[in-house]
Amino acid sequence: MSETTRTQVLIIGAGPAGLMISQMLHNRGVESVAIDIRTREEIENTHRAGILEAKAVRMLEDENVSQRFRTDGYEHDGTDIRVRGISNRISFKDLVGASVWLYPQTDVFIDLANARERDGGDVRFGVSDVELLDGDSDNPGVRFTDAAGTTQEVRADFVVGSDGSRSICRALIPGATQYFREYPFAWFGIMAEAPMSYDELIYASSDRGFALISQRTPTVQRMYLQCNPSDDMHNWSEDQLWDEFQARVAGPDGFELKTGPIFERTLLPFRSFVQQPMQHGRVSLAGDAAHTVPPTGARGLNLALSDARVLAPRLAEAAKANDPAKLADYEEIAVKRVWRAQNFSYWMTTMLHSLPDENPFDRMRRLGELEMVLGHESGRRHLAEAYAGWPNEVDGL
Ligand SMILES: Cc1cc2nc3c(=O)[nH]c(=O)nc-3n(C[C@H](O)[C@H](O)[C@H](O)COP(=O)(O)OP(=O)(O)OC[C@H]3O[C@@H](n4cnc5c(N)ncnc54)[C@H](O)[C@@H]3O)c2cc1C
Repeated sequence: MSETTRTQVLIIGAGPAGLMISQMLHNRGVESVAIDIRTREEIENTHRAGILEAKAVRMLEDENVSQRFRTDGYEHDGTDIRVRGISNRISFKDLVGASVWLYPQTDVFIDLANARERDGGDVRFGVSDVELLDGDSDNPGVRFTDAAGTTQEVRADFVVGSDGSRSICRALIPGATQYFREYPFAWFGIMAEAPMSYDELIYASSDRGFALISQRTPTVQRMYLQCNPSDDMHNWSEDQLWDEFQARVAGPDGFELKTGPIFERTLLPFRSFVQQPMQHGRVSLAGDAAHTVPPTGARGLNLALSDARVLAPRLAEAAKANDPAKLADYEEIAVKRVWRAQNFSYWMTTMLHSLPDENPFDRMRRLGELEMVLGHESGRRHLAEAYAGWPNEVDGL
């Protein structure tokens, strides 16, 4: 048994980038079919990013996805960069008149999946055996087995590869260049049932390594410790982990973390990646499929949504006219922001983390850099602007 569907846009990967593009196409009168190898429940329960810039939450509203972030999210006017136990608050509001939202990726996904369902969107979760067909033709498509075990073929005028950091769609762009960097450290992430220790994120750079203290809800917290990628912190006791977190934030102000049972542990390797071009013929890449960043600058999810913001209106025009030329400036506009975000993520990462082989000179130079950034308004403003999202005149969005 096999079934064939014809649509205007085929979307491979129904994460935030894919579903946002699907929703934006629907709002512009264009049909799409999105497929994902994971089930909806699996994606809903995969904890990832937590911070959305103001432009990203505005998209949820403007594209009629949901306003739930207003009741279930938290607006943060700043963040704390704690260096060797000394707190340095960066006020986004005062420095650049902006704020960010703590609204987890799981909620963004739930809102997008609900909106697609509400609006009659064709999203097929839990598929397998995905095989891309004729990517370089006028009739690209995909063959897969659906969740019920039926072989399906979908043919479309255009394809979006939004299939994440292990993208198979990258191969549809011939002659592409891949830029890649791996870092000699990772983050060990925990989810804990504990009260909030602070009402904004804390980026802590200590002589024992970096720690990020972030939140999810008043009773669930998300935190990360810098570690060696080969460290097995899965075997650490809860007391050992909390002691290490506390040691990395400890300072003369007596700041103490609120602790509780840890219910999830994950290791997150650090990588930077960009594939260019992001578009060829009838195929476009979006989100992690085209670029990944280390999470230190909270850019990954924001970049995925900003790709959607650039791509979807162009794709709608291209689909209505059946003309790939309408996609011509997607790459040029999107990639500028991608490299800005790559630079910011790299800079935050290398400034806040200690390298495993860091010698005393390297450490003092890095602390000098932190002092230069945090000790001057121009440095704090530079950081605040990048973290909260560049203004339109800077990134062309
Ligand atoms: C553990 C972790 C923590 C993170 N923390 C942060 C953070 O704090 N801040 C931040 O900004 N970013 C963070 N990120 C990055 C952020 O989550 C990503 O940038 C974001 O998910 C990108 O969205 P996307 O839609 O492009 O890709 P994804 O969310 O990865 O979605 C891609 C989808 O494609 C599907 N897929 C894959 N292969 C196929 C295939 N062959 N066929 C069909 N479907 C396929 C996948 O199942 C997935 O659902 C984190 C990432 C990880 C892994």
